Amino acid sequence: MNQIGMWLRRVGQRLSAGLRTFMTGRYGSDKLNMFILGCGVAVCLISLLIPVPAVNLAATAISYGLMFWAIFRTLSRNTYRRYQENRRFLMLWDRIRDRQHKYFDCPKCRQPVRVPRGKGKIAITCPKCREKFIRKS
Ligand SMILES: [Zn+2]
Repeated sequence: MNQIGMWLRRVGQRLSAGLRTFMTGRYGSDKLNMFILGCGVAVCLISLLIPVPAVNLAATAISYGLMFWAIFRTLSRNTYRRYQENRRFLMLWDRIRDRQHKYFDCPKCRQPVRVPRGKGKIAITCPKCREKFIRKS
């Protein structure tokens, strides 16, 4: 009995060491991956409720695509690119969640500018290049 326990522990150690070697230099998971996987699962569940075969097939294909994308990102060796993707996603996510402010990109230099919401039409001056533009807040 004790020997089986030892054997199991050794197998477990070897598996986790193998996984560590396999994941060396690979990106792993992040918030964007969780989001993509969540979308994949959501689309998959929604597709179960759709009785139209063509739509069902399309939804299934999309959910598989999303899940493969997440797996691809996890195993990717281009960690810099994946990191940048996640950073952009987090920035976008913060913008969506922020109900107090609106975000605009400067038309000249693309610098993101944050302004308070609900002030009507306002003149915005870009903090970076001083370009002035008018937007509805
Ligand atoms: Zn600017």
